[in-house]
Amino acid sequence: MSGTWIEVDLDAVVGNYQEVIKHLHPGARCMAVVKADAYGLGAIEVAHALARAGCEAFAVTRVEEGLILREQGIEGLILVLGPTSKEEWPRAIAAQLQLTISALSSIADLDEVCSDPELEFQQVQVHLKIETGMGRTGFQPVEMDALAIALAKASHVQVVGIYTHFARAAQRDRRYSLGQYERFRASIARLEELGISPVWKHVCNSAAFLDYPEWHHDFVRIGTLLIGHYPGQGFSGKLNLSDPWVAKSRIVHLRTVPKGTDVGYQSIYRTKAITQLAVLPVGYADGFGLAPHFAPQGWIDFLKIVLKNFAALFGIFLGQERVDLKGRRVRVAGKIGMQLTVIDVGMLDCALGDEVQIPLRRTVANPRIPRRYRQEGQMLSERIMKEGVLPVNPEYSLQ
Ligand SMILES: *Cc1c(COP(=O)(O)O)cnc(C)c1O
Repeated sequence: MSGTWIEVDLDAVVGNYQEVIKHLHPGARCMAVVKADAYGLGAIEVAHALARAGCEAFAVTRVEEGLILREQGIEGLILVLGPTSKEEWPRAIAAQLQLTISALSSIADLDEVCSDPELEFQQVQVHLKIETGMGRTGFQPVEMDALAIALAKASHVQVVGIYTHFARAAQRDRRYSLGQYERFRASIARLEELGISPVWKHVCNSAAFLDYPEWHHDFVRIGTLLIGHYPGQGFSGKLNLSDPWVAKSRIVHLRTVPKGTDVGYQSIYRTKAITQLAVLPVGYADGFGLAPHFAPQGWIDFLKIVLKNFAALFGIFLGQERVDLKGRRVRVAGKIGMQLTVIDVGMLDCALGDEVQIPLRRTVANPRIPRRYRQEGQMLSERIMKEGVLPVNPEYSLQ
């Protein structure tokens, strides 16, 4: 029995998907973004649950992620959002992944790779990415003429879609998003004048999906909402979402200690009274206590960060993580270790083996932590990874 594991409720994921579907503009479909192992939940399991619920389109960042989904029996459209390389193309084409193209130079190269008579499919379906304000990948709107010329020469490259990605939709910066949308529209208009009309247009991520129903077009690309989160402040309550994710650990060591006991590296925690210290087999190597570092959003956020660091200078650690034990909020005592964490459980009635719920951020949770999948009240499967990247559960082995 593992000491730390994650329970994923696939009914909740499907419920969130159905909520999205309910709010789609007529004619639009949901493309489920299952990149980064479905934001940590497990791409294979999430994609299968969504496919069973009728989802026909999926998106990932990398070719490797798309290949895994195909090998595991996902039959729908799979779009690779990120840049891809020449070496990956033959495998991507064989698996009938749809690719994003963002650079003029790749069109002739892609056409050449596809024309290889050895290939089973000599056609690749692509989506054109337009750079409108994200500053990451995509064709500049001024490149449309050159793009049309390059495409006209590439008979093996079939354009099926065109899209862009919003940089500030989650911050609800309407002006910025409108600017991006206008540049996208102008690019399409120019391409159409030049005789290129992609079938599908798509622009919305979770935030834009909620704020701009008139921009749903043919697909909305949804990740965050499917995993039960809102994309930012001010969105909560817009859908009836549920959280499919619970991370759990169990007490593996328990000891009563006197007042004044120092705990952990740097002894940043000292018990204030006689208490029980419990040890959990989870740490920052599992992703516990980790979060991506973001620049402060506004002055209040900035002041909070300053205050926190200032207090730490004097040995006062604000914002320590808390865990849930039998419905009670319990403090982490001292620094989170690499694979062990101490919690101060006071005189709460507890025992070795008791389960504790831990706040573990999905996208940084170590993939080696076992995931247990539940659907329709039943344990569906368990995913255990040994060597870091690929599942070893025979059902999902990917040799
Ligand atoms: C991640 C991603 C999405 C999904 O965004 P959410 O806000 O998580 O729904 C959509 N489009 C692109 C290009 C992405 O990279």
